[in-house]
Amino acid sequence: MTKDPIRSLRVQSGSALRLARHATDATLGWEKQSAKAELEKVKQRIDVLQARLAAEGSRGLLLVLQAMDAAGNDGTIRAIFSGVNPAGVKVTSFKVPGGPETQHDYLWRVHAAVPGKGEIGVFNRSHYEDVLVVRVKEFVPKSVWSKRFDHINAFERLLVDEGTTVVKVFLHVGKDEQRERLQERVDDPEKRWKFRAGDLDDRALWPKFQAAYQDAIRRTSTDAAPWYVVPADRNWVRNLAVAKILLHTLEDMNPQLPPPEDGIVGRIVE
Ligand code: AMP
Ligand code: MG
Repeated sequence: MTKDPIRSLRVQSGSALRLARHATDATLGWEKQSAKAELEKVKQRIDVLQARLAAEGSRGLLLVLQAMDAAGNDGTIRAIFSGVNPAGVKVTSFKVPGGPETQHDYLWRVHAAVPGKGEIGVFNRSHYEDVLVVRVKEFVPKSVWSKRFDHINAFERLLVDEGTTVVKVFLHVGKDEQRERLQERVDDPEKRWKFRAGDLDDRALWPKFQAAYQDAIRRTSTDAAPWYVVPADRNWVRNLAVAKILLHTLEDMNPQLPPPEDGIVGRIVE
């Protein structure tokens, strides 16, 4: 395979994305054992570039992860960032808003969690919940959520203009695969804590969620802040795909080590 399959996962701005046409069990031409070995190499590269990004100290990188339950936001984060310096990575998991979050607009808590200069920020769920679950479950009327695509595009544009690279990933899991994973959560005592009865309510609304995801991705995949649709039925494909998306993004940013202070090169430390 000569063409990098990652390119084909990117949703072009203005595209008429059809999620149903994207296989959730695709292998992207990869094979399991070599993909796992390649993930280790990709992680090492990410670690090197993360260190440079931190040293450069002038730009941030935000990775947004969105998915249906059990598609693997948590597992992806664990797989990609184990081995990357935790001091430079900030993960934020967005839950149902509570406390002061409910007293502000929906972007308030999100903006506060955006990575600082030199940081990689990962959003495990995000402001997109406010045009996904909030839309599907009718927590606010259409007159309210429908305006949010424009807010989100403007917000992400602001981040990019001010030095934060934004990349967004939808982990695309199949309905059958989700059933198996949710069943495993019910059956396995180590995983049971992750299961909420409400997950089944969301599952029952599957077609509406897919439609909402499709619409949100279409309307917010911009050149400045693109979406990628990653097949997520196989964890090893998902992990390598997201790791490569992150690596490519870092390579494009091409962070530079700061120049040394004058007179340092060649100094002998006594
Ligand atoms: P989990 O990520 O599985 O721990 O679950 C977090 C839950 O919080 C999910 O059911 C999300 O849909 C929900 N959630 C996150 N953000 C929002 C939001 N802005 N409004 C409503 N529900 C949300
Ligand atoms: Mg959950």
